[in-house]
Amino acid sequence: MNAREWSLRIADLARREHCALVDLLLALAEFDRLAVYRQLGFASLFDFLHREVGLSRGSAYYRQVAARLVGQFPEVAEPLRDGRLCISNVVQLAKVMTDENRAAVMPQFFHCSKEEAKQVVAELLPAEVVPRRTVVTEVPLLARQDASPVIVQPVGRDLIQSEGARPVLEVRRTVVEPLTRQETRIHITVSPAFMTLLKKARAGQSHVQPGATDEQVLTAALELLIEKQEKRKASVPAKVKREVRVRDEGKCQWPLDSGGICGSTLRLEIDHVVPRGRGGPSTTPNCRILCKPHNLESARRVYGDPHMDLFTRSAPMAREAEAPV
Ligand SMILES: [Zn+2]
Repeated sequence: MNAREWSLRIADLARREHCALVDLLLALAEFDRLAVYRQLGFASLFDFLHREVGLSRGSAYYRQVAARLVGQFPEVAEPLRDGRLCISNVVQLAKVMTDENRAAVMPQFFHCSKEEAKQVVAELLPAEVVPRRTVVTEVPLLARQDASPVIVQPVGRDLIQSEGARPVLEVRRTVVEPLTRQETRIHITVSPAFMTLLKKARAGQSHVQPGATDEQVLTAALELLIEKQEKRKASVPAKVKREVRVRDEGKCQWPLDSGGICGSTLRLEIDHVVPRGRGGPSTTPNCRILCKPHNLESARRVYGDPHMDLFTRSAPMAREAEAPV
């Protein structure tokens, strides 16, 4: 088989996979409508699929939901067959499809990733109450064999130390769950070191932004990180440096409370008036000459002392790395 033949073969198998799935769902829809599973002693189609057919819980659940949707709205079958819809999106579609919106809603799920499909659902069906809080939960210690829901225990203070038991093999991924058009919930599995950093940053930030949420603290941290990355990526063009140097006459432009400017000619750096981390460009109007102490002061006014203290203590960052004039 050459590569072209192989490709055709794979494409053909994929088509057959879609068709087989639709055939299964159509059969299940009928099986479900007549409640044949009950004659076999099962309480639900899910039970039948899991225990009798041997599907995993997840697989059984997806097929039960999809079969019911196909039974109710037969037009779902065709896009499943030709690949515009996949089964995980059908499960999302089932949350919002009604007699009234059936024609308009289904196409919104075509060719969606799972995350995109969740976003569509969130937009159509905004969560009524969106909790805006951070819940720290201990990762369960014993490996789970099935897909039963994890019981999470909100912990008010710090992470509970795990004792003795072997740690669960936890997949370290970020789960993103769109709630509404404006709000998204993320679940991140983190280490004790991360919690320590977050706690430290939050405590520090409390002087600048009293009552700052974790989102605000993390946003400030990300802005600093991005500014650092931007600096590494794009230094100030030589032409801009030249123009700024001429315009500012090689002197620190920091305005003094008493009027006038600092005027220092020592340890000069190029400062961005609107910081790069906040989208400020490396252009002549947005750049000025500052002495190193005033450059640091400028950063402190933007990001707050505690944050700059964290950075200037642990790693000379941002302002330290400003382009020398
Ligand atoms: Zn100065």
